[in-house]
Amino acid sequence: MEYLPLFVDLKGRECSVVGGGEIAARKASLLLKAQANVTIIAPSVSTSTLSLIENKHVRWLQDTFKPEQLSDQLLVIAATDIDTVNRDVHKYAKSKNILVNVADCPELCDFILPSILDRTPIVVAVSSGGKSPILARQLRARLETLIPPSYARLADMVGRYRDAVKDKLPTIDMRRRFWETILQGKVAEHVLAGRDNVAQKLMEATLADTKLDDMDKGEVYLVGAGPGDPDLLTFKALRLMQQADVVFYDRLVSKEVLSLVRREAEQVYVGKQRAWHAVRQEEINQLLLKHAKQGKRVLRLKGGDPFIFGRGGEEIETLAAEKIPFQVVPGITAASGCSSYAGIPLTHRDYSQSCVFVTGQLKDGELDINWPALVQPRQTVVVYMGLVGLPVLSAKLQQHGMTADTPAALVQQGTTDNQKVWISTIADLPELAQREQPVAPTLVIIGDVVKLHKSLAWF
Ligand code: SAH
Repeated sequence: MEYLPLFVDLKGRECSVVGGGEIAARKASLLLKAQANVTIIAPSVSTSTLSLIENKHVRWLQDTFKPEQLSDQLLVIAATDIDTVNRDVHKYAKSKNILVNVADCPELCDFILPSILDRTPIVVAVSSGGKSPILARQLRARLETLIPPSYARLADMVGRYRDAVKDKLPTIDMRRRFWETILQGKVAEHVLAGRDNVAQKLMEATLADTKLDDMDKGEVYLVGAGPGDPDLLTFKALRLMQQADVVFYDRLVSKEVLSLVRREAEQVYVGKQRAWHAVRQEEINQLLLKHAKQGKRVLRLKGGDPFIFGRGGEEIETLAAEKIPFQVVPGITAASGCSSYAGIPLTHRDYSQSCVFVTGQLKDGELDINWPALVQPRQTVVVYMGLVGLPVLSAKLQQHGMTADTPAALVQQGTTDNQKVWISTIADLPELAQREQPVAPTLVIIGDVVKLHKSLAWF
């Protein structure tokens, strides 16, 4: 980080602006908004600066810049159109440890003024570190639509209950949970919709009804993290990721997705690799249970969809038996993600009217699959975990009547920057994999729809 964003209390503090033009007026206005004692130093001033001086209690030192004018200042902004004066201000301020900003000259700045979204008491500052103020302004404009003015009222309203909540709920964790529930629930909705009275009544009722015992209860969120691209997460997944105390994640969860988990949450890798389990399934079940019993909000983050070849069912069976509350959030499964990003529709009126997902994981060198059900006309077959067993898969499909030239695709690390798609036939797949050595995770898609890749690939 090149600049640390700080929110500084300038109320009643001495701040100067050297210069009397339009830019100086804008900077002085900003300092005034923060209730600073502002002095303008300039021999003459523009009309807008003059209006600040006359109407807003700004002091005017009608003089050229002299170092001694800055003696008791906390910060100074130089905004004259004379380069040597700006440099003099910078030099003197530096020598006296006064924070200095020279307008439009990032290399002479101790601090920079960000683009500000003001929903006091909520204030959002966006900076590009002086690289592109226009970009910062555009981002602020986007945030403006995300954070409507009513957020100011929301912050004010809940702020009034801070002490009462602190009195009732003894630990930080309890209070955090309480506030998360309030701010994501009906109370916030009412405030944002302008029904402040209803919100206030509900807030008081909720606080009165809150029982310490309930606040101590843990919960498990079994969340599908999708195939890799973080933009494919659901809103619900993101919300629960943001409120977890501890996260247990798999090898398949991309680091971009992981970086969206609440920063303070403890992160535990329990990845499973083929034939080598970092932490065995039963241990994972027990870990979830143990942490939930400690009152934690446990996030179990799994690649794709937790209920599709994810053993999600087993994990919550243990929780259900112990009456631990849990939620399951679906994710975009690899078949969906890879097919979309490879331009291979899973169904298509001209080619395929059904689609089956199978696991291609070998058990004692064999595949336990209902082969006749797979070898059907106008059907797409998606094979998860099929890379190692490809030779067996290819041979068995042909033995059961699938024609050797049936189109087949390998999609490696679909939806990520490393996505690669290879197109072949079921007969040639094993040799292709041998030659190209795709890395995990890789998905196999079989059927006539694979032909569409040629015209529909977009990613
Ligand atoms: N629950 C997951 C699947 C877990 S099984 C889901 O719904 O997607 C693991 C297999 O999924 C891998 O062996 C691979 O075949 C497939 N897979 C998962 N993510 C993938 C990706 N981004 N690209 C290609 N295949 C993927």
